[in-house]
Amino acid sequence: MAYATTNPYTGEAVKEFPTATAEQIDGAIEKADATFRQWRTTSPRRRADLLQKAADLLRTDHRHYAEVLTREMGKLISEAEAEVEVTAQIFEYYARHGAQLLAPRYIKAEGYGDTDVALVNDPMGIIYTVEPWNFPYYQIVRTTAPLVTDGNVVLLKQASIVPQAAAEFQDLMLRAGAPEGLFTNIYASHDASEQILGDPRVRGVALTGSEGAGASIAAIAAKNLKKSTLELGGSDAFVVLDDADVAKAADWAVLGRHWNAGQVCTSSKRLIVVDSVYDEFLEHYRKGVAGLVAGDPMDPATTLAPLSSQQAADALAEQVEAARDEGVTVETIGAPVPEQGAFVRPVLLTDIPEGSETARTEFFGPVTQLYRAADEEDAVRIANASPFGLGGSVFSSDIARAQDVARRMDTGMVFINQPTGVAPDIPFGGVKRSGYGRELLDLGLKEFVNQKVVAVADIDGSFF
Ligand code: NAP
Repeated sequence: MAYATTNPYTGEAVKEFPTATAEQIDGAIEKADATFRQWRTTSPRRRADLLQKAADLLRTDHRHYAEVLTREMGKLISEAEAEVEVTAQIFEYYARHGAQLLAPRYIKAEGYGDTDVALVNDPMGIIYTVEPWNFPYYQIVRTTAPLVTDGNVVLLKQASIVPQAAAEFQDLMLRAGAPEGLFTNIYASHDASEQILGDPRVRGVALTGSEGAGASIAAIAAKNLKKSTLELGGSDAFVVLDDADVAKAADWAVLGRHWNAGQVCTSSKRLIVVDSVYDEFLEHYRKGVAGLVAGDPMDPATTLAPLSSQQAADALAEQVEAARDEGVTVETIGAPVPEQGAFVRPVLLTDIPEGSETARTEFFGPVTQLYRAADEEDAVRIANASPFGLGGSVFSSDIARAQDVARRMDTGMVFINQPTGVAPDIPFGGVKRSGYGRELLDLGLKEFVNQKVVAVADIDGSFF
């Protein structure tokens, strides 16, 4: 796919960017490798200063950075500003805590002194990162900030519909004081992954995206015996128990399903409501969704953005038709959406047959699956009847009960009384077909380091 910006609200084809050639990619790897040799010797202070500077620059020019996102992939300007801020927070988190989180761990081993056996965290080299368009900066920083803290260098392939956001991020890193080659944005084709992961100087890959992309990249990584981490799709369960504050839960569901136009891996895609409060919840939910206002994403009064592209809107409409063919009840909610722009009018799916394709599908837009559960046990069963296991939520006024339900959900993250959240200091990742590996905190920091043992032995000691 060619790298190009098309404004999803106006439909204007703004700019195209040439795809990188094999020679250009080789040149980028050579430069990154040379930079790695220097960067791996830099002090934690130098790395932290760079990350803090990037955070400061983002905050100073937040409106500029936000507008790039809104024009390129259509998100609401308020959500774009929030993304710029959380990106700054992640940079800052690693600037403040990176060195301490990477400190050697001393192991108490039989026959050794307290500090004789150390587990140190050495950088590995060039890490290839493949990222999606739905949060063009936030997805990049989630891998870049920890990798740079480690002493690694980054080769980025960003989604082809957000080339300007990727270029902005590279420019940000350079302005923050990164040496050339520390962070390199390349407009690589899908096929280029063979060349990149086949190169011995590239030591691993972190991908965020769909199951198909994940399976393809992980297979290439495996063939080359390289480590991969995968942050893939999700169909988060949003469980409402009989003792929940139903009106508040419905308000959270409206937001959890529709922010970023529903294009979030951890959107509240499957609402699972116990029978005794189902009707009350549905009434509130319908009303909330009907109140969304579709329009210009630059207008602060707009609450429902267009999708990232017309192709995405068309693909979602096809998925809804497939659901209808399976016997699912399809209801559109709210006023008609504008003709101009890649809008999708909110859709509610009910009567979804167990084990159907619809129940297994990730709808990446304002389409809600709603399930009626007999009771708590049934809600957990429905929640777990998904190929995905990314996030999830439980709504209840009894926190201990909600925590117990959360523990029974087969997923990577569960939030109680809110949709799955985004924070710089809470780890992120899933299980099942949502992928493997974790991002953020020390977990993300240690995905691509060599946790090396350095043991000081007694020269006169015995070996066996
Ligand atoms: P996508 O089509 O898989 O694209 C993601 C990235 O992978 C893009 O850079 C894309 O490049 C690249 N790609 C796709 N197929 C590839 C291949 N065969 N070889 C090499 N690169 C390939 O996903 P998307 O539509 O952009 O994003 C939506 C998906 O991402 C959803 O499933 C969503 O749930 C998931 N997601 C997961 C997380 C998480 O943290 N778990 C976060 C956000 C999104 P091109 O643009 O050039 O095709």
